[in-house]
Amino acid sequence: MINQLVSATYIVSCLLFVLALQGLSKHETAKRGNALGVVGMGLALLAAIVDMMQGRPNTTSLALLVAAVAIGAVIGIVKAFRVKMTGMPQLVAQLHSFVGLAAVLVGYNSYLKSSVGSTTHEAETFIGIFIGAITFTGSIVAWAKLAERLPSRPLLLPAHNLINLALLAGCGGLAYWFITAAQAGKSSAWMPLVLMTVLALALGFHLVAAIGGADMPVVVSMLNSYSGWAAAFAGFTIGADILVVTGALVGSSGAILSYIMCRAMNRSFLSVILGGFGSTTTQLGPTVDAGTERETTPAAVAELLWNAEEVIITPGYGMAVAQAQYPVAELTKRLRDRGITVRFGIHPVAGRLPGHMNVLLAEAKVPYDIVYEMDEINDDFAHTDVVLVIGANDTVNPAAMQPGTPISGMPVLHVWEAHNVVVFKRGRGAGYAGVPNPLFTSDNAALCFGDARTTLQAILAALPA
Ligand code: NDP
Repeated sequence: MINQLVSATYIVSCLLFVLALQGLSKHETAKRGNALGVVGMGLALLAAIVDMMQGRPNTTSLALLVAAVAIGAVIGIVKAFRVKMTGMPQLVAQLHSFVGLAAVLVGYNSYLKSSVGSTTHEAETFIGIFIGAITFTGSIVAWAKLAERLPSRPLLLPAHNLINLALLAGCGGLAYWFITAAQAGKSSAWMPLVLMTVLALALGFHLVAAIGGADMPVVVSMLNSYSGWAAAFAGFTIGADILVVTGALVGSSGAILSYIMCRAMNRSFLSVILGGFGSTTTQLGPTVDAGTERETTPAAVAELLWNAEEVIITPGYGMAVAQAQYPVAELTKRLRDRGITVRFGIHPVAGRLPGHMNVLLAEAKVPYDIVYEMDEINDDFAHTDVVLVIGANDTVNPAAMQPGTPISGMPVLHVWEAHNVVVFKRGRGAGYAGVPNPLFTSDNAALCFGDARTTLQAILAALPA
């Protein structure tokens, strides 16, 4: 009876995970999707604990399990409350690294404990540890790059593709050694398993270190996918169906997201998997050519906006840093109340997370129907009176249309085609990819220096009552 109840709970959890993913695909249903995912995971955890206690009914195991879950939950809750919106990408990368490490440990534990030598089980263990180790070091490098502990530029060793191929081939050879050695006896198979783990750790490090510039969004979604597959294989090794299903859902949705990000950035999916695709070298310098830019003031911007008919706002990472979404929403309301058409143009990789800008705008209650994707709005800039570039840089950089820079080939918002462009930034800081931005010195552009939130509040104060 209890077994059947546990199985039924697992099925309900899986359904809730599918519904959660469906909910997360649209702004309007994202919160509901999140809630369904939380309920699904809660049920799955509960069922897993009951399931485990079935086979080992002693209080020490239960106490250990509950203590582990409680410690993990407390750390998770504290982290979630403390993290700032701008720190989310790093946190996500950290969490992926935990999944990778867990898959490695589960794989070793399962191999240590298994008595029967089945080739299928050995293959599952080997693949789970392989993907887990790549995910672990890859995610740590991604975290370090996003947290600015490592420079975002690619680490380009000579013949880096050959190094990747050699590491992969090495792991392939070790797989053969491991399977044949395991048939002969468990003790002789440890060596290839440990060697493969070391090579896979090095491969994960090298794959992600070789990617730089503006291409990190694809890496984050790829690691998301890898972490899912690592969990799925861990599920195979310990015979946990719920882990297989959950891992496969994360793995496949991460792969779909990576594909979407690749298309948005005009990169090839294969080159992402091989790593090092954002490897163009370029001379990087200050993003604003000092002395040639035109500066403006909040009062002048307020006047420009008040006399406009069509306004497009293109937010970027700086809006998240400044937490400027609330004055942006207030400004939008004031302008719309005057009869001015205000729309938002969102680049698919603006900010530091897929959907980062959409989340912030939704939080500030900007109506969804005036928020457009890049492809939907890019032809409209030419007949727009004023474009406000709020803390965006790479995503509005016309240099992406020229060859030879790390962002070359990435589609960008054509803000420079508007009659007037106002750029909000604090100083002469670079965009994430560190590519100089000629927009800042074009004739129709003016820079409004200062923290975006403070500047927008000053603009609001300067608008006529
Ligand atoms: P960028 O990171 O290119 O530029 C941000 C701009 O905001 C800078 O020019 C900075 O200039 C300005 N800024 C920072 N803080 C403030 C502030 N408080 N007030 C006003 N301005 C501020 O942003 P984009 O959104 O245009 O591009 C995102 C980049 O991040 C892309 O290269 C993308 O590939 C990458 N990325 C995206 C991820 C994703 O999933 N979306 C994940 C990882 C990377 P200054 O310092 O002078 O103020």
